Amino acid sequence: MNNKIQQEDNEYVAGTYNRFPVALVSGKGSIVTDEDGRDYIDMTSGIAVNSFGFCDEIWQKAITEQAAKIQHTSNVFYSAPCAKLAHMLCDRTGMKKVFFSNSGAEANECAVKTARKYAADTKGEDCFTIITLENSFHGRTISMLSATGQEHYHELFRPLTPGFVHAEANNFDDILKLTKENKTAAIMIECVQGEGGVVPLNQDYVKKVADFTKENDILLIVDEVQTGNGRSGKLYSYMNYDIQPDIVSTAKGLGGGLPLGATMLGDKVQNTLGHGDHGSTFGGNPIACAGAVSILERIDENLLEGVRRKSKFLFETFANVKGIEAVTGMGLMMGLKTVKPAREVVEECIKNGVLCLTAKDRVRLLPALNIPDDLLKKASEVITKCCE
Ligand SMILES: *Cc1c(COP(=O)(O)O)cnc(C)c1O
Repeated sequence: MNNKIQQEDNEYVAGTYNRFPVALVSGKGSIVTDEDGRDYIDMTSGIAVNSFGFCDEIWQKAITEQAAKIQHTSNVFYSAPCAKLAHMLCDRTGMKKVFFSNSGAEANECAVKTARKYAADTKGEDCFTIITLENSFHGRTISMLSATGQEHYHELFRPLTPGFVHAEANNFDDILKLTKENKTAAIMIECVQGEGGVVPLNQDYVKKVADFTKENDILLIVDEVQTGNGRSGKLYSYMNYDIQPDIVSTAKGLGGGLPLGATMLGDKVQNTLGHGDHGSTFGGNPIACAGAVSILERIDENLLEGVRRKSKFLFETFANVKGIEAVTGMGLMMGLKTVKPAREVVEECIKNGVLCLTAKDRVRLLPALNIPDDLLKKASEVITKCCE
């Protein structure tokens, strides 16, 4: 075995990632190949990014054609892919405007800036608190760390950005208490807490929070960075909850493998951000947007039906496995609470040719939305064996 890639990386790349000892060099669909020529079934899609798997042909054609036409314009000029993608997102969600950035953290930054400005404009500058949930994850910038309701992300990086408080998930009384104590601009939730262990919020809780924000002119922000773009079995996970958020942030799967974040702005906040209030050099990059158009076009009812069917298959397969204590999640976003430590199970799976992830104490599965049924079945058999 030749570990040159791993040696070079370990020597020169900042040590922020506890990487698995595998260097991936090529892929096709849900099969990916390492530097030694070994194939794996992919149950990660690059953490919910490669929506249609590796090197999907339609996406590849869209980005290479755009790269040959015009690769970047800067946001002081108009460009077609950016306008088209925003139009499509609004048509599919009922949102009114879109701001493009390059990552999930940035999409959330824009959501929070919009909420702060809306609250300042309508209720005064002392109305700025953003309530997020315990066990949430919203990104790695200093402000999104502050938004994230997990203490261990805060350690070592103080002082944090002020104005974020955390409510216990699924406890509506805690929302009532915190909104009494703080002049609140917005409540930000993930309908399924991804990094928090793939835990969906309760239906009645989300509905109550949504109704409460409407009645009190507090903005509801839904972080769809991981749950969005078909992952949950609906285009966006909030669509499983019969609610209409004021702001939706997304990233990961939208670009299908290129960096792209989007913050969708609803009725109330569509004109909150004006000239000069926000910006991004790379945001809305034509190549990334052209790829995203080709992804979004194919996340139709037929594909979503397939996501729900594959999800049902996985839930049923893992329901009675010795070694799996609980199965949580939604669509093709799944957390397995295993008897063995999750990291150990994932290492075992990799040795047996299946790539999986962890999320907190869970094994996390995020296969491509179009993973073929036979590969899904094979992967689930390997995972089952490795859990026992
Ligand atoms: C991954 C993730 C983020 C951060 O996205 P980056 O692109 O890494 O900045 C934010 N929120 C949620 C829910 C995520 O899963």
